[in-house]
Amino acid sequence: MKPMTTEATTCIRTLRLKVKTESYPWLNSAAVEVNQVWNWANATSAKAARPFAGPGKWLTGFDLDKLSAGASQCFEHIDSETIQRVNAEFATRRRQFKKLQLRWRVSRGSKRSLGWIPFKAVQLKRKGKSLRFAGKAIRVFEHAQLEAAKWKCGCFAEDSVGDWWLCIPVERSLAPAMPKHQDVGLDLGLKDTVATSDGQKLEAGHFYRDLECKIAQAQRRGHRRQAKRLHRTAARRRQDVLHKFSTQIISRYQNIFVGDVSSAKLVKTRMAKSVLDAGWGMLKTQLQYKGQQAGRSVRIVEERNTTRACSSCGALTGPTGLDMLDVRTWKCRECGDIHDRDVNAARNILSAGRCPPSVSGNEPSPSSAPPSPASRRCEAKDQRADGSGMSTGHRGYRDRHHAIHTVHSMESQDPSDSAPARP
Ligand SMILES: [Zn+2]
Repeated sequence: MKPMTTEATTCIRTLRLKVKTESYPWLNSAAVEVNQVWNWANATSAKAARPFAGPGKWLTGFDLDKLSAGASQCFEHIDSETIQRVNAEFATRRRQFKKLQLRWRVSRGSKRSLGWIPFKAVQLKRKGKSLRFAGKAIRVFEHAQLEAAKWKCGCFAEDSVGDWWLCIPVERSLAPAMPKHQDVGLDLGLKDTVATSDGQKLEAGHFYRDLECKIAQAQRRGHRRQAKRLHRTAARRRQDVLHKFSTQIISRYQNIFVGDVSSAKLVKTRMAKSVLDAGWGMLKTQLQYKGQQAGRSVRIVEERNTTRACSSCGALTGPTGLDMLDVRTWKCRECGDIHDRDVNAARNILSAGRCPPSVSGNEPSPSSAPPSPASRRCEAKDQRADGSGMSTGHRGYRDRHHAIHTVHSMESQDPSDSAPARP
């Protein structure tokens, strides 16, 4: 278990405030100038890296600042600080992607880049109810949120609908609370987005399916802006539900185990739309960063056989294959227990997660928790089963096959020890 810190810690959250429409024309023309600076930096640093004669030079943000000194006189909207921020951002991205040249920022036409205007802390000043930026008063909705905020830098960003947002990373303090429960397993699925080992379910909202015909209608009629708006609505609904769920899980449990379902693989099948709609990736990311901030342990667990195995006796009696996807509840042939498909899988993930060394194979396991009696016995059994002269690579492979059976045979011997609570 990770040591819990009782004192308040801080974290960085991005404050996103919508800009009032009256500033949109100004921001749009400022964004064109930012694009010009970006493209200049792109061309200049590519030329410097491969000159006609002599050795090349990889320009840093500081070099670009020196070269662009005085350029702000040519621009009507942006000033030198914004130019420097663009240079710095360009240099960072170029280093990150290790490319000679990055993509151009396009100001017009169908491939137009979404507007972006970065700034430094000193450029944005609070003045009454409005903000002062580059000699221009800009008003935002919910400006009260800025009262206590201290920012270092930030940006104005445009979304696909064409609305502008003020984005500022601000520091927030948070007091981590002790969770009520210990461990939980999460199974990610399509029917229910998530099922927990305690029997709780998050219904797949069909955030997109619900709006699908409206979007299709808008697209047929050529209302592109309306279609984009509906897409944004779907995305926001999805985000809202997932945020609420992940916050609830993090506040309730200490150790969280998630099945390692790969959305990248399933997206290529005919289930793609449901997979993208379910938002697994987003949920995993949220659990990870929220868990980190609250001092919880979030682990990804091998998902093999978790649907097939019975969580009570460990026999592989459950539904299997694509044609049995619609089997939601089933009865175990061996022990006679009736299982809900997803909750059973979540329980298996939980018990697999409690026995990390055998499940994660060769990967270094984050052994933060002291091994429970069950997991110690698991390890012992694995060692016996493996023999001594086996290479580590082979061992990892065999362990994965063993894991589920081992865990369940342990549980059947001593159900009070680690079997998940049944309602
Ligand atoms: Zn069974």
